[in-house]
Amino acid sequence: MVFDPQQRKENRSARISVALFRMSQAIKKVTQADSDAIGLSPVQIQALLFCSHTRCDVATVGNFAQTIGTTHVTAVKIVNGLVRKGLIVKRQKSEDRRVTLLDLTSEGRQQVSKLDDWGNSLEEALHSIPEEIMVDFEQGLGSIISALQKQGHLVVAEPCLGCIHFRPNTGDADTPHYCALMKKYLAHEASLKECPEHTPSAEA
Ligand code: SF4
Repeated sequence: MVFDPQQRKENRSARISVALFRMSQAIKKVTQADSDAIGLSPVQIQALLFCSHTRCDVATVGNFAQTIGTTHVTAVKIVNGLVRKGLIVKRQKSEDRRVTLLDLTSEGRQQVSKLDDWGNSLEEALHSIPEEIMVDFEQGLGSIISALQKQGHLVVAEPCLGCIHFRPNTGDADTPHYCALMKKYLAHEASLKECPEHTPSAEA
């Protein structure tokens, strides 16, 4: 029997797509169980983690919606639930009052500090897989994430290092780094926070 390489590639893509879909269902189940133990839903926990890890000037409702792949309306509902619980505050961006910025309250920060174990069940489920398989898997997953990101299906927020817009050590002592996209100097701590506009450079 002669195998057509193109057909073989398509068959593999189909099998991997099914495997990824099954994994997404398992991940949903595991994170739901972890979230139930905390008394919040998985998306509420994602909202708290988004506020904690994202640089304050880009921690907007719109970016949160993109990060979790939902509509603006749904993101607003999730955020409003957390505002009512006293875990998040909303404020208008001073440069553009149509944009709503999100921040944690002190109670929200306390809640985030208790989230260290959230997602551990998933991590533990992978411990039995041999290291050499995990190395290949990590590489493969990176390629899948990058392909989904390029097609606009996924937003991956990352710190500034490795971004094509990052100009490190070009400013003064307080704001040493420059973002060519936002045309703004950044403090070092700010450059370590996650940014949804991160665009990986070819070498990254
Ligand atoms: S666009 Fe890039 S350089 Fe600018 S703040 Fe975001 S990650 Fe940093």
